[in-house]
Amino acid sequence: MRILLFGCPGAGKGTQATFIATRYHIPHISTGNMLREAITSGTPLGKQVKEIIDAGRLVSDDIMIQLIQQRLSLTDCADGFLLDGFPRTIPQAQALLNQHIYMDYLINIAVSEKEVIRRISGRRVDPESGRSYHVEFNPPKIPDHDDISGKRLIQREDDKEETVRHRLVVYYEQTKPLLDFYQAAATTLLAQHPMHYLEVNGYGGVEEVRDRIFAELPVE
Ligand code: AMP
Repeated sequence: MRILLFGCPGAGKGTQATFIATRYHIPHISTGNMLREAITSGTPLGKQVKEIIDAGRLVSDDIMIQLIQQRLSLTDCADGFLLDGFPRTIPQAQALLNQHIYMDYLINIAVSEKEVIRRISGRRVDPESGRSYHVEFNPPKIPDHDDISGKRLIQREDDKEETVRHRLVVYYEQTKPLLDFYQAAATTLLAQHPMHYLEVNGYGGVEEVRDRIFAELPVE
């Protein structure tokens, strides 16, 4: 099963991705987490992208396409994968099609801009694993600490309100148009490889949203 998880920043993609990947035994591929890991490890890639991410801008298509190509070539992707945060631009989506990488499902988690700002400002993450929580809606068992490693949670630099507003502008300008791109491709490039489109209401508790998604997907 190949799933593309779509939605604006703060729609809950990371949390839902964990549920879906576990259910279908597929790797959860989050380009945001991959880049943050590169920053934490101090790799050349990490150094190159840190400022861009902190400012809420997009990393260049060339870098992202190369990164995802390498990741998808690993053996754990042979039976499927879940993409979270890629593609984010039309050239990135086009690159997948050029490589004949077709998705079975596009799941669009829909929430309003106002809700997103409320959610992101309360978001806390474990910088190592990328596990994410919300102080109000999905709190860790021990406040400010990761449930599994027990390490202290942080607020991402790009989760600060001003940066979130910028990330939303980037989303509306560069990422949302992908929905039209895929719709247009459905009758041409994707005609032989139909991709199911699911729009899921992203309001409510994380389990509620998870159940809405699961209700639309085939039983594993
Ligand atoms: P995310 O955790 O998915 O919200 O990603 C965090 C940040 O990583 C984004 O704001 C971008 O700066 C960068 N990023 C992640 N995925 C991509 C992508 N596919 N294309 C460009 N930049 C990306």
